[in-house]
Amino acid sequence: MFKVRVKDTSPERRVRKVLRQFGCQFETNVKGLPGTPDIVLFELGIIIFVNGCFWHHHYRCPKGGLPKNNRLIWRRKIIATEIRDAKNIRQLKELGWEVITIWECETYSQYRIKQILTNFLF
Ligand SMILES: [Zn+2]
Repeated sequence: MFKVRVKDTSPERRVRKVLRQFGCQFETNVKGLPGTPDIVLFELGIIIFVNGCFWHHHYRCPKGGLPKNNRLIWRRKIIATEIRDAKNIRQLKELGWEVITIWECETYSQYRIKQILTNFLF
């Protein structure tokens, strides 16, 4: 099996940086919660997934498309990831968590990260 989520990817680092600027306390890669969330703000009941656009199939994103070769194989893997993501989010919501998904392409702008987080945090 090959690993989908890599620890300490730079989009995650960019999000964590903003959270620190906001003075938020958080834990990362929390096992024991569905999907091993990238970032968990326990005090606020908020979970953040920082998703790679390709692996997590970001719709209408230039990075979310399928490669030309072996499309079927890729499609199958990516759809499996998509289904798993949806299931994890549903489970987390059932447990009472607020779930935020931030896409890799959104993390290129610190302003955009702040905008997304501000909607949830304040
Ligand atoms: Zn994207």
